[in-house]
Amino acid sequence: MELLYKSTRGGESGVSASRAILEGLAKDGGLFVPERIPALDVTMDELAGMTYQETAYQVMKLFLTDFTEEELKKCIADAYDEKFDTEVIAPLAKVEDAYYLELFHGATIAFKDMALSILPHLMTTAAKKNQIKNEIVILTATSGDTGKAALAGFADVPGTRIIVFYPKNGVSPIQEKQMVTQKGDNTLVVGIHGNFDDAQSGVKKIFGDRELAEELNQAGFQFSSANSINIGRLVPQVVYYVYAYAKLLESEELEAGEGMNVVVPTGNFGNILAAYYAKLMGVPIAKLICASNENKVLYDFFQTGEYDKNRPFILTTSPSMDILISSNLERLIYRIAGDDASEDVKLMTSLNQEGKYQITEAMKEQLKDFRGYYATEKECADRIAEVYGDTGYVLDPHTAVASCAYEKYRAETGDQTKTVIASTASPYKFTRSVMEAIDAERYGQMSDFELVDCLEEISKVPVPAAIEEIRTAPVRHRTVCEASEMKQTVKEFLGIK
Ligand SMILES: *Cc1c(COP(=O)(O)O)cnc(C)c1O
Repeated sequence: MELLYKSTRGGESGVSASRAILEGLAKDGGLFVPERIPALDVTMDELAGMTYQETAYQVMKLFLTDFTEEELKKCIADAYDEKFDTEVIAPLAKVEDAYYLELFHGATIAFKDMALSILPHLMTTAAKKNQIKNEIVILTATSGDTGKAALAGFADVPGTRIIVFYPKNGVSPIQEKQMVTQKGDNTLVVGIHGNFDDAQSGVKKIFGDRELAEELNQAGFQFSSANSINIGRLVPQVVYYVYAYAKLLESEELEAGEGMNVVVPTGNFGNILAAYYAKLMGVPIAKLICASNENKVLYDFFQTGEYDKNRPFILTTSPSMDILISSNLERLIYRIAGDDASEDVKLMTSLNQEGKYQITEAMKEQLKDFRGYYATEKECADRIAEVYGDTGYVLDPHTAVASCAYEKYRAETGDQTKTVIASTASPYKFTRSVMEAIDAERYGQMSDFELVDCLEEISKVPVPAAIEEIRTAPVRHRTVCEASEMKQTVKEFLGIK
């Protein structure tokens, strides 16, 4: 049965999956949601015997119904291949009494790879299906992680180009090195003089520039976005929650039908929303535990029913969760409002104008499977040291925030349900924070690459290729511009006068 998409703000409906992927954001500013959440049509027992790729097909075919079996299987095969350093793609590590679902075995060693390695293939397939002859130009502003994962995903994918803008002095040395060494003739990485907001506003302006869009069209190009609100990023993320349950069943850690809790370190609310979708599809997920760092806007929301972004922005050691507007939360709001677009618009307008909104009691009632917890910087660092000291397993700061949330939840409720913790980054991506958490005095003075070697020594986990490569990789991107020159830079790269 065909599954169509509609906007949370009511302005678009009857949109095919492929068009929703191409458009990214709906024209009315809303997010595309499926008209219903499909139920899995294979049993958990059957799923237990499947590979990651087979599981991906079983989940994605239900959401992306206008893709043929052949198309979808090809996208999956091209995405989840040797770019991942393990055949199982998303391994589970049992540490103490929790299962860490390691989502960082892809090209850029963070969980963004799970979706961004398949998005380019979904997008080019979608372009073909919709008779789009233009080359797709992905435009992204990044504060670090997303840019590199998008570059790695789109590099050398025929029919696409990708341009990434980052704040020249606003990313970590390792993050910058990862980006400026990016291979692929279709890639362009540009540092701008300004902060992330300048880069972001510049990109938004270019997206909204009608005249430029027409010039691009004449030259055979059109823009698209790899932003986390694209359903082409959300759907692939549902897969690993189905997979995690099935694998725990296969290894007899779980009995058929037994509940499983999930803990997800959250910023934009994308990853935990994917877990919620997996639950709605029929995976026996019990509680969804939303873990925040000191930017605990979501924790407060689950406590009080009020979402309030009016607060200081705190820079933490888990930067990918330093977010005050969790864009994907809108999909949950729409659902608990009973798919009522006018209610959604009311709340989102309030968020836009006053920076906050309050949900009704009836909406709150539907959030009873969610729990919010947060970790302070000190709790997070202590947890890294503690888990390492007790088990030898090294957590990255984002995963450590989730691990703290798990501990707090268990202490508070005594709930013994088996729990999967989404492990969203390799500790190698945040080596300094991790090593300083373990021993500040010993590691505080070392250089980033010295710390990499020390981490290998203490964790016994070999340095991932993603880090090894950038030690010696030549710099390929040297473009730097003012924020006001972004449009010109784009045109030059595309050869438009
Ligand atoms: C992006 C990111 C997150 C947050 O994911 P959301 O989908 O925005 O909630 C958590 N950890 C890491 C390492 C990330 O890169």
